[in-house]
Amino acid sequence: MKLICIGRNYAEHIKELANEKPEDPVVFIKPDSAILPKEQDFYIPEFSNNVHYEVEVLLKIRKVGKHIDINFASNYYDEVGLGIDFTARDLQQKLKEKGLPWEKAKGFDGSAVIGNWLPKSNFQDLNDLSFSLIKNGEIAQEGSTGQMLWKPDELISYVSRFFTLKKGDIIFTGTPAGVGKIKPNDYLSGILEGKELFSVKIK
Ligand code: ZN
Repeated sequence: MKLICIGRNYAEHIKELANEKPEDPVVFIKPDSAILPKEQDFYIPEFSNNVHYEVEVLLKIRKVGKHIDINFASNYYDEVGLGIDFTARDLQQKLKEKGLPWEKAKGFDGSAVIGNWLPKSNFQDLNDLSFSLIKNGEIAQEGSTGQMLWKPDELISYVSRFFTLKKGDIIFTGTPAGVGKIKPNDYLSGILEGKELFSVKIK
């Protein structure tokens, strides 16, 4: 399976990193080895002094699809989740400056936190889900899927033009504003529509 990640999908986050607003979704992949095993602590990798959390809404693909029409995109996922796209920001910055791929800064071991899944039928409007990241008891990031530049159905349709989606693939839909650095002993938890879907301790 693969993790397909969307960058720059929230205007306020684009501003905070002083990035340009993209014409099309920014897409990158994390390997399946990036998944942090459940209940495991996250160890800050030795190659970075500035790992950022990025809380993101996740979509789990339920069947194979390619060139998916936007009008049918919602048939391709039936579970919604929440996770973290850990990013070695210092390394990413260096790679970006050189025009090199981001993979080392984004796809390293443990960089993908995947929380519990909820059936999408739980929610009336998937384009209006509120979520947050709590760090050491305080709100670090807060967002709503309503703020996305590209909504879930648009992302599925777009991504499937390039990558065949397979059952079990997961889409990370991008992070809202408020990203920041983690340090040892931080405790992060993710809340979607009032439900805690993951927690992770930083080492
Ligand atoms: Zn991200």
